[in-house]
Amino acid sequence: MKAEKPAHVRKLIMTAVPVLVVLAALATVWAWKRAAPVFSGTVSITFTERYDQPDKKITVTDPKEVRRIIGTIHLTRKDACSCSHVHEVTFDKPAERIEVSFCDHCFAVLGAKKNGWYPNARDYSMPKEFYSEFRELALSRTNEHWHVQP
Ligand SMILES: [Zn+2]
Ligand SMILES: [Zn+2]
Repeated sequence: MKAEKPAHVRKLIMTAVPVLVVLAALATVWAWKRAAPVFSGTVSITFTERYDQPDKKITVTDPKEVRRIIGTIHLTRKDACSCSHVHEVTFDKPAERIEVSFCDHCFAVLGAKKNGWYPNARDYSMPKEFYSEFRELALSRTNEHWHVQP
């Protein structure tokens, strides 16, 4: 004859299982959030185009403008693309620099460089409004001919 667990033990298990499921979900969300780059605190944003020599650069340091541009970054993960990028943007914070390689549909956060490549690069979809901000800035440099997508 199979021994039944006492009622109080069954009740404990019934309570503990959902709690553990919720905790596991929270831990996953937390780990995910932690992995996502944080752009707040940026004091300077620099866009670079490596296409013709010399490289072109646009640097934004006006706090209001920096905040507006940062506000357009809403990231969703996507698979890596094989497209080649001529554009990079760096976000400089007092104690950190975030480097991003991008095109009109990719926003690849590069992470630390090791042996000439970026083993921790994370791929996100290009936020449309962020690309628009970049396009506006690039096109306002009428004598520089930046390679921007319409
Ligand atoms: Zn692509
Ligand atoms: Zn791309």
